[in-house]
Amino acid sequence: MGTETEKGTVAIVGGAGAVGSSTAFALMDSGLVGEIILVDIADERAAGEAMDLNHGAFFTSPVRVRTGGYEDCWDADVVIVTAGASQAPDETRLDLLERNAGIFAEMIPEVTRGLDDDAVVLVVTNPVDVLSYVTWSVSDLPADRVIGSGTVLDTSRFRTALSHEFDVGPSNVHAYVIGEHGDSEVLVWSATNLGGVPIDAYCRHRDVEDLDALQSRIEDEVRDAAYEIIERKGQTNYGVARAVAAATERVLGDDDAILTVSTLLDGQHGIDDVYLSLPATVNRGGVRDVLEFDLDAEERAAVQESAAIVRESIEQLDIDAV
Ligand code: NAD
Repeated sequence: MGTETEKGTVAIVGGAGAVGSSTAFALMDSGLVGEIILVDIADERAAGEAMDLNHGAFFTSPVRVRTGGYEDCWDADVVIVTAGASQAPDETRLDLLERNAGIFAEMIPEVTRGLDDDAVVLVVTNPVDVLSYVTWSVSDLPADRVIGSGTVLDTSRFRTALSHEFDVGPSNVHAYVIGEHGDSEVLVWSATNLGGVPIDAYCRHRDVEDLDALQSRIEDEVRDAAYEIIERKGQTNYGVARAVAAATERVLGDDDAILTVSTLLDGQHGIDDVYLSLPATVNRGGVRDVLEFDLDAEERAAVQESAAIVRESIEQLDIDAV
């Protein structure tokens, strides 16, 4: 990477699936990616997706899409992993764990064996926090180079909900979802502001009478979004694809951007040895540092509970045995 002709290479393992192919589509517009490699056991479908995507490349900045095997990931600057089974209606993300952990235990060592030292792996497959931990555990990669997409999408959903609620441009809404990408995720109301005005003061300004009711309605909307979309159309793909493409672009662009990716925690909010989302600075080296909020007591307890839920899944899995 670096020169204009040497744009980044991104491999997408699971690239023939709904999330993988939509992510490829979103990445084609970035201008930062010169080659996208779709890696999937559904090889005919991957070849079809690559052909279809290439036929739009005339309208984007120059980029080639091709298929490849696990060893083709070794040339990539970023390897996105969307491979695995997707969430069925009424199935929680944690229910998917057993199915997907087995796939990862076989696949990740093959994918990462010959990776360049400066490559970053971005895990998307659910349950993303646990599978990010599995990816780090079964590979030889340092933790800062294994990132989960975590609550990047949930944070976007939270900001979008507030933006629509108050008719304020999304870039003026500052709000974060932290913790597990799943049912125990935590919306950080204490740090939420619109244009720098704290949410409670902003609600007084807009004559919102019942802030608790508003918070609980938005929490339900954000937390249940994936269930509702899956119920209606079978899977989620566009929102997550935009979120994953954005995270990939921040890495390739060496942006030092702050995103709520899932990363290995090391004492933040009293949490250790678990992959979980907090705001983290992301650049070409992966995660540079992890930030801590000044959480209120309820939020701190909620994020610790969220960590305990992810940790329990990791322990149930017995990583050494997968
Ligand atoms: P999908 O079934 O459409 O695609 C999964 C793809 O993985 C398939 O093409 C399949 O052939 C491939 N695959 C399976 N095993 C493989 C292997 N060993 N090697 C290579 N490829 C393999 O599913 P989807 O809708 O694209 O969802 C993919 C994953 O992303 C699911 O786990 C889903 O829950 C998750 N997801 C995560 C988020 C998030 O925010 N983290 C959001 C939406 C979906």
